[in-house]
Amino acid sequence: MLFEITVQGLVQGVGFRPFIYLLAEKMGIKGSVANRNNGVIIFAELSEEQREQFIRRIRSEHPPTASIHRMEIRELRESEKVFTDFSIVSSYSESEEVTQVAPDIAVCEDCLNDRKNQAHRIQYPFINCTHCGPRFSIIRDLPYDRKQTTMSGFEMCPVCRSEYTDVRDRRFHAQPIACNCCGPKYYYRDANGEEKSDYRQITDLCARLLNEGKVIAVKGVGGYHLVCDATDESAVNKLRKIKIRDTKPFALMFKDAESMSPYVFINREEEENLKSWRRPIVLLKQRPTENRFSIASGVNPGMRTLGCMLPYMPIHYDWFQHIHSPALVMTSGNLNDRPIIVTPEEAEQQLGNSVDLVLHHNRPIHNRVDDSVLQVCGNVPCLIRRSRGYAPEPFFADISTEGILAFGAEKTNTFALSKGDTIIQSQYIGDLKNEETFSFYTESMNRFRHLFRFTPQLLACDLHPDYLSSIHAETTASENRIPLIRVQHHHAHAVACMLEHHLNQPVLAVVWDGTGLGDDGAAWGGEFFLCDRKHYTRLAYPEYVPMPGGDKAALEPWRMAVAYLHHYQLPFPEDFLNRIGKKKVESVIALMNKKIHSPYTSSIGRLFDGFASLSGICDTASRQAEAAVLLEQCADESCTLGYPMETSGHLISFRSLFQSALKDLEENVPTAIMAAEFHNSLAKLIAEKVNRLSEETGVKQVVVSGGCFQNKRLTEQIQQLFACSDISLYLPAQIPCNDGGVAVGQLVVAAARRLSEIK
Ligand code: ZN
Ligand code: ZN
Ligand code: FE
Repeated sequence: MLFEITVQGLVQGVGFRPFIYLLAEKMGIKGSVANRNNGVIIFAELSEEQREQFIRRIRSEHPPTASIHRMEIRELRESEKVFTDFSIVSSYSESEEVTQVAPDIAVCEDCLNDRKNQAHRIQYPFINCTHCGPRFSIIRDLPYDRKQTTMSGFEMCPVCRSEYTDVRDRRFHAQPIACNCCGPKYYYRDANGEEKSDYRQITDLCARLLNEGKVIAVKGVGGYHLVCDATDESAVNKLRKIKIRDTKPFALMFKDAESMSPYVFINREEEENLKSWRRPIVLLKQRPTENRFSIASGVNPGMRTLGCMLPYMPIHYDWFQHIHSPALVMTSGNLNDRPIIVTPEEAEQQLGNSVDLVLHHNRPIHNRVDDSVLQVCGNVPCLIRRSRGYAPEPFFADISTEGILAFGAEKTNTFALSKGDTIIQSQYIGDLKNEETFSFYTESMNRFRHLFRFTPQLLACDLHPDYLSSIHAETTASENRIPLIRVQHHHAHAVACMLEHHLNQPVLAVVWDGTGLGDDGAAWGGEFFLCDRKHYTRLAYPEYVPMPGGDKAALEPWRMAVAYLHHYQLPFPEDFLNRIGKKKVESVIALMNKKIHSPYTSSIGRLFDGFASLSGICDTASRQAEAAVLLEQCADESCTLGYPMETSGHLISFRSLFQSALKDLEENVPTAIMAAEFHNSLAKLIAEKVNRLSEETGVKQVVVSGGCFQNKRLTEQIQQLFACSDISLYLPAQIPCNDGGVAVGQLVVAAARRLSEIK
């Protein structure tokens, strides 16, 4: 019998077709395999018995980097196609249809071995195969073919060519295939401006500089990194000065999981993610350590967590052969939170004078990608930054999302577009208020539109008219006469999570974050919704308090402390007044009384700020959410006490919370206990509120999203509180809970509304 099998998922550019070919050959199956519209299509002549076995083996034996989302099997009339053998059909029809681009893949074990054994690849630092190597970062156009990538400038040598064309070779159709004779090289310019490219000398030089406590800049997969010894305090401080970054933690790279374990706690889920081919940075809890080498305190000031990753390029492995330290700081090569640098010119210009070596390679980066970041909450790996190793792997919608372009939020921006039922989210872009980042945003959007042959029919953006993303959407809409749908920020957060878990019925949504414009003009951020994908009803939220100074309040948490105490008519503690200055406090109160620059907010992010300042943890912040992070990091882990909360009614008051906190301050209760009580109260608030709303509405499914749930303590607490309940809790995992997930939510809301209009 003849069957047509369609496989959807991550199946292109990861060695899926040769896998099918070899499997069919082993099983004596006739037919063909080809890349098609967003998937792989197989024709196979199968007996009843073969059919079951073939499908099972495709599912269980596929290449490690492939993932199958959907498989459809259809019986055809035997006469439709006749096969004499099994073949891989070349890309004749791919150009218009194929839309899948694989993420970049960490170098695999087999390739690391080939570096030791294959004559033409001894030590070769850009080794790759059908299952590993660069993908998204080098692709310029589809179909995914060497000439459409930044490898087009490298002519394959005869040996590589023969491997490339041999279906039995591990490098069959590996588009970036390369070796010492024909592939990319590392190089740097010495003091005399002379170009040096001897790899052996280069790794020796890197190792010497790192051992001496120097900072070097190195071109990687998706951009440059700044690198130094993580155990050398002065090297780390030097790096901080170069980056112009006060306290934001640096990510570390360790040689392997074993050398990481003296420094951090690693559970099984975390280890799996660390070792996965996606190689993200995983946030791990630091161990108190008495090792010969200790991590410099400048790496993560005030933090109990360390962002850790494992080597993913051959050169990383080579460094660890030659350096003394078990850990390197690996932070993105950019200044002042601009986009990560990708070209040698920018690297020389921006970093050349401040580092001891700028190491380039000559494989151009077409799509810049930062390292991805995740943390495991409970047993759920939750992405915080979805970029290298993940983007642009698609999400699959359960409704038609064809032709929609979503512009995202403003900070932590990503955008998303969709073809058919396939949603493609961009890599992490960043804060659009930064001029260079905004150019990166428009450039990437154009590149995605070109790459995926995408023409928008419908646009979606945030409700906030002043977001640079919304302004860009507005311009695009009017220039091209395309309809634009504006989506409330927290609704988008909730719907992104609904999509990820394929929730189609109304759910309860708890969306807590820094800020998002509400439909009444206030800055929301502590929302309890009943919502579906089209609409939401706001069931409960915190009492509005003024946010004196508007956006300024986000970087000056003390303003929020003043706002809450003033709003609830509570006394200011002596110590607080002394720290901030009575005059400043009074002027802020005057501002609020006159209702100048004091928009109303229901934001939990601001509540974290206000509480952090009041408890003496952070009065002014050097970056967004710093106060909230410090509050989480200092919270006592065993304390189960909490502040009283009034949870009835649809308005939530924090009066008794602040009243009790003031009492704690008077009694000199340790800050760590206060921070714990604060977290415990919020977790309990969610649990009680959700239980009550669930009783009232009969809805048993609750999604939880928004930047506040990057707070691992809070997230794990609510996971525990709902563990034994009949209410199912859904967390965003693949789509970030922060504003990096908003674009996908906007896109799905637009799709759902369009669908209901058609019906
Ligand atoms: Zn490989
Ligand atoms: Zn070669
Ligand atoms: Fe948000």
